[in-house]
Amino acid sequence: MPECKEIFDTLSMYLDRDLSPESLEAIEAHVSDCKPCVEFVASLRRSIELCRRHEPVELPGPLDPEARDRLRAAYDAYRAARGG
Ligand SMILES: [Zn+2]
Repeated sequence: MPECKEIFDTLSMYLDRDLSPESLEAIEAHVSDCKPCVEFVASLRRSIELCRRHEPVELPGPLDPEARDRLRAAYDAYRAARGG
């Protein structure tokens, strides 16, 4: 069972469905059983969809490093707020 931190490390790839089926299964098993991760993935997905709505391109690109850093900070704050 992956840790929450490992989930975050692969989260952007997970959201882009850019992982092996095995990794996807492991992440989905974790987030379906870990309420903070369920909520975080849901809110992350919403923010990414909001961002992409303003993109002129149809195919989503990878997250840029700055966005990744912001997401990591948000994730750390989110987990700290929940005592995770
Ligand atoms: Zn978790």
